[in-house]
Amino acid sequence: MKGQKVTVGGWVEDLRELGKLSFLTLRDVTGVAQIVIVGEEGLREVRDLTRQSVIRVTGTVQETKARDFPFEIKSEKIEILSMAVHPLPIDPIGRLESNIDNRLNARALDLRNQKTASIFKIRHHVLQSIRATLTDLGFLEVNTPKIIGSASEGGANLFSLKYFEKQAYLAQSPQLYKEQLTLGLERIFEISSFYRAEKSHTVRHLTEFTSVDIEADFMDYTDVMEILETVITNAFENVERNCLEEQKMLGVEVRRPQTPFARITYQQAILELGREGIDLAVGDDLQDAHLRKLGDLHPGFYFLTDWPMSLKPFYIHEKDDNPMLSKSFDLQYGYLELSSGGMRLHDPRRIRARLKEQGLDPAQFEDHLKAFDWGMPPHSGWGLGLDRLIAVITKMENVRETVLYPRDPERLFP
Ligand code: ATP
Ligand code: MN
Repeated sequence: MKGQKVTVGGWVEDLRELGKLSFLTLRDVTGVAQIVIVGEEGLREVRDLTRQSVIRVTGTVQETKARDFPFEIKSEKIEILSMAVHPLPIDPIGRLESNIDNRLNARALDLRNQKTASIFKIRHHVLQSIRATLTDLGFLEVNTPKIIGSASEGGANLFSLKYFEKQAYLAQSPQLYKEQLTLGLERIFEISSFYRAEKSHTVRHLTEFTSVDIEADFMDYTDVMEILETVITNAFENVERNCLEEQKMLGVEVRRPQTPFARITYQQAILELGREGIDLAVGDDLQDAHLRKLGDLHPGFYFLTDWPMSLKPFYIHEKDDNPMLSKSFDLQYGYLELSSGGMRLHDPRRIRARLKEQGLDPAQFEDHLKAFDWGMPPHSGWGLGLDRLIAVITKMENVRETVLYPRDPERLFP
């Protein structure tokens, strides 16, 4: 190694002049190298260099006195491949903290900050882990349409778009398609962007978010809860093992959570909140303040199960022993909802009745419902918010930190 002639390329992270010597820190995806430039001619070459400029250095490897580097490269030739402006809109080394808006406005540059890059490296590992876990469990990855012709779940929060001479919408979830697909493919998953036209200004809502969805035949809601637990613990384990550098950069210690996750019924939650002085009746939805309180009582992962049917969408199955309650669950991390799921109705007569109960027109759902006459088995599934999961793993308060180019009611650029 020592004495070896090398050529390295990368970004100038730092530049220091010390008398006749200049020290330059060069970074690429593999790490950093210290470059030493000796003599007047060399100094002239680098005097106008700016931070984050891209250069190619040819030189010789030598021993170093610097503590942060195992060795250094004595420069013989420097080629400037791309000059960065000075000053830059944000400091990508992170010595000067920029607020999230400025960072998002300069996202491409923000990713040169190793802290920011670490979030997306972890995201990559989590995605890999989810795909591996579900594939091992016999699930097939599918892609359903994002441009849809009818307001499928009846939702008011759909973006509409002009589709030539017709009206179309952006899908808010793959719910109806994934249920239909279980008829032929039995166990499927999808990882994709979905769209919600909600003017939410929170740290957990985006108008475009990534959802991990599964749907599986012959499973009860408790079966898919176990799968969700496995998906999440495997993701933590993968990051714990494979993202040591990234954890260090972010100052977090990712550890596999304790399993099984607590399972709390909606009715127990109402009782717990009652003891805290929050009076709710069965059938009331849990608002943000209620979830915050529950989150204080249960700081980690826990399932909230058996919600009243009245709070759940038309496709959710009732409990066998109490038709007022549903075979449904949310997975929470403290106050934060990470996932919703449940067992689905598979008898089309029951679905039509539920649609009417909820003020929806079954005729609008005939494309969907006809599949239920072709041998639709009982099935269950869930949708997991990937961006929120990454926020939990990386201990980020704001989900925008975990999305490269987040979209919210205010932000459409870059
Ligand atoms: P919330 O009550 O938090 O608005 P939701 O109940 O409307 O969520 P679901 O339809 O159950 O959301 O979607 C399943 C999962 O997708 C949620 O648990 C969440 O993790 C994620 N998700 C839903 N909407 C958003 C959003 N606007 N931004 C980010 N993630 C979302
Ligand atoms: Mn939900």
